[in-house]
Amino acid sequence: MEILIGGAWPYANGSLHLGHIAALLPGDILARYFRQKGEDVLYVSGSDCNGTPISIRANQENTTVKAIADYYHNEFVDSFRKLGFSYDLYTRTDDEHHHKSVQKIFLTLLENGFLYKKKIEQAYCAVDTQFLPDRFVEGVCPNCGTKARGDQCDNCSTILDPLDLLEKRCKICGDEPEIRETEHFYFSFSKFQTKLESYVAKAALEKRWRDNAIGLTNRYLAEGVPDRAVTRDLPNGIDVPVPGFEGKKFSYGLKR
Ligand SMILES: [Zn+2]
Ligand SMILES: [Zn+2]
Repeated sequence: MEILIGGAWPYANGSLHLGHIAALLPGDILARYFRQKGEDVLYVSGSDCNGTPISIRANQENTTVKAIADYYHNEFVDSFRKLGFSYDLYTRTDDEHHHKSVQKIFLTLLENGFLYKKKIEQAYCAVDTQFLPDRFVEGVCPNCGTKARGDQCDNCSTILDPLDLLEKRCKICGDEPEIRETEHFYFSFSKFQTKLESYVAKAALEKRWRDNAIGLTNRYLAEGVPDRAVTRDLPNGIDVPVPGFEGKKFSYGLKR
């Protein structure tokens, strides 16, 4: 039997702590278990070197995204080696192979009709001449009135869209951003609604899952599976290989 185990990709903007290791350990135990049983195991993971937090940190420390990513990636590799993790491949998201693979999967999904373009409004800084990623917009939380970032309010834990913020400011230059229209690709999760419902019904019938797993999944399905943006205006990451999308990158998060 071929077994793929994908460990979570730690984000390369800070050192690992015990919580990371606790979450990653079960994958390593599974990999060792299946190898001992003689199965064909591929246990992979890597450092996530893309995204906004690394780029904000690079700005603050007056260095490059690559320097920050290199530092923590090397630290992670060293920690995993000392702890005896048995990854078959531990790589990084700024690796060329990773970029090419993501673009290939995207183009396959596009060909098969699982992606569509949608126009949305987004904060744009005229001074820095760029669309601002969520965390590059700061302002006042409309829910509790304290200072908040564009993706979430740390004070009241409300998940925010940057346009929800009051007194919006660009994190780079401090100016008030404009609202401009931009276009992004969305993944049609909704196309999988019926298929997912029948999978869960089968799992329930054959008693393959625990009751709470079936209950929780059915609750999500009852709300309707939402489509999600797969591209964003990010400062670093994987380019979107479609004309007209120059400068935009793929997103990994769960952004509506
Ligand atoms: Zn708040
Ligand atoms: Zn600005």
